[in-house]
Amino acid sequence: MISLWDSLSGFARVAPWVVLATGAVVLPVLLFIPAPYGRYYTKRWGPALPARWGWVVMEAPSLILFGLLVAANPAHQSPLVLALAALWLAHYTQRTLVYPFLMKAPGQPKPWLTVAMAIVFNVLNGVGNGWALVDRPFDAAFVAGSAIFAVGFVVNLHADAVLRGLRKPGETGYSIPQGGLYRFVTSPNYLGELLEWLGFALAAQTLAGWAFAFFTLANLLPRALAHHRWYHAQFPGYPRERRALVPFVL
Ligand code: NDP
Repeated sequence: MISLWDSLSGFARVAPWVVLATGAVVLPVLLFIPAPYGRYYTKRWGPALPARWGWVVMEAPSLILFGLLVAANPAHQSPLVLALAALWLAHYTQRTLVYPFLMKAPGQPKPWLTVAMAIVFNVLNGVGNGWALVDRPFDAAFVAGSAIFAVGFVVNLHADAVLRGLRKPGETGYSIPQGGLYRFVTSPNYLGELLEWLGFALAAQTLAGWAFAFFTLANLLPRALAHHRWYHAQFPGYPRERRALVPFVL
């Protein structure tokens, strides 16, 4: 008889391949149709919920399922695996339980459609990554990857804080963000996020980690390009030297 553990194992092994395939589909689609939340939200995407609760609901599986898998697996109790888990859980605790409550309501709502797709993704990605962690000696890949993750985390937190500072409570309009890495790129929050997951993949050395880094690129590169075009269209004086995502390059 196939046990629950065996089923979970099968699901976790397939999950990174599904994430990779989804990323390959999502990348070209999002280049033409920006994900319909935030400034691209319109009512035609169906029922929506307040953005704050959208973030909590859709990111929770990556926090809870990953945490449960690491805690439940005796093979996961090594210092290296626990250090990798700490990186992941630090990010997802922030994204699920802190970021939404720092947002200034109301903001644009999140369509249930995008929330539902994100829940499915986070179940796949949380289980895939939580399952895949394996012990090995602390090595250069772990040190370099953790350092890249830490830099990305700080860049992402700072960039999101700058955006929050652009609105007074109750305001919903947009203005040009300034300072920090906004001097160089339109979306330093996405650059930071990308560095985090590239760093995590390098540190963890798992297919699930690399699949997530690829998906993050597939998801956020088109959104950074769309934001960049949007700012140029909305603000004729938008800084011309600013790139979309990668300083001096793209
Ligand atoms: P955005 O930059 O689109 O928006 C972030 C917040 O800032 C929103 O509340 C938005 O309001 C507000 N905002 C944005 N630009 C301005 C402006 N010019 N003036 C005033 N307010 C502004 O980011 P996302 O919502 O796409 O992402 C939020 C976080 O989640 C980021 O840190 C991102 O890295 C992360 N993320 C990670 C993903 C992954 O694949 N790992 C996927 C998506 C996001 P409003 O909603 O009203 O537009």
